[in-house]
Amino acid sequence: MRYDDFVPPTSRKGPRRGPVSSAVALVCACLTAAGCGMAGGGPAPGDAKADAPRPATSRASSSSPEPSAPEPSATSPSAAATSAKPKPPSGGPLSGRTVVIDPGHNPGNRDHTREINSQVDIGTGHKECDTTGTATNAGYAEALFTLDVSRRLRTLLEERGAKVVLTQDGERPFGPCVDERARIGNKAGADAVVSVHADGSATGNRGFHVILPAAVSGGAADTSKIVAPSRELGVRIAGNFVRTTGSAPSNYIGGDTGLDTRGDLGGLNLSTVPKVFIECGNMRDPEDAALLTSASWRQKAALGIAEGIGSYLKR
Ligand code: ZN
Repeated sequence: MRYDDFVPPTSRKGPRRGPVSSAVALVCACLTAAGCGMAGGGPAPGDAKADAPRPATSRASSSSPEPSAPEPSATSPSAAATSAKPKPPSGGPLSGRTVVIDPGHNPGNRDHTREINSQVDIGTGHKECDTTGTATNAGYAEALFTLDVSRRLRTLLEERGAKVVLTQDGERPFGPCVDERARIGNKAGADAVVSVHADGSATGNRGFHVILPAAVSGGAADTSKIVAPSRELGVRIAGNFVRTTGSAPSNYIGGDTGLDTRGDLGGLNLSTVPKVFIECGNMRDPEDAALLTSASWRQKAALGIAEGIGSYLKR
């Protein structure tokens, strides 16, 4: 299909959407208080702190991360393609463009609570360095999901000629901290940055949403130059995500638009290049979890993000 196709995320689409329950506007758990470097305290269900009491399941999952759908092995296309395969020749539609992909959290964060709970300066205040992220009820960790989708996304973007940088590739014991995640995008001079996540909200809350930077200023944070292009990037990702996955925009955040705007995320506040987060679905909802644990669905998710980025970069 045409690479620059764009489908606006207008309305719910597809048969999967259940009854809307917008009354419970739980904020995206992995990104709230405990998630994604948010400072402490928010009581959002399914957040990183909610994961903490589940060490047995979670730790077991580190060696067998995906009970309901095996994680791709080193021989799978997504895992193998990225590290060993030589870079495609230049000349693709994204040749000369740099994309930074930020896989949310880190599978090792749970073993480094002291480090990831340390406070970092996000310009407008201080937040935790990083968090553990959420997990499905069966124990598939968000940090494994984000790495898998990010690797698939890297392959797709490199095939299109882009230079791709990951903020972490499972090679480091924890982190990076949210401020460093932002700096990696800035130092790369990225044309676009996408931070990949999945949410940890209540059962019945379904669908994806893209988080856009609010206009904030303070300390090292100044998003005035990235608010508009980031929105453009986010809208195109949301539209393509609907198209490739068939998933509907969130039924609990963003009023059916699949878009949310936040000024409390260090990874956005400190970015000087266009950047969005995407919450690909709700890991705590069984129906969404069935999608998130499916390798074929993750490929569709990566494709939607890749085509959204491509659409943005070719505009
Ligand atoms: Zn997250």
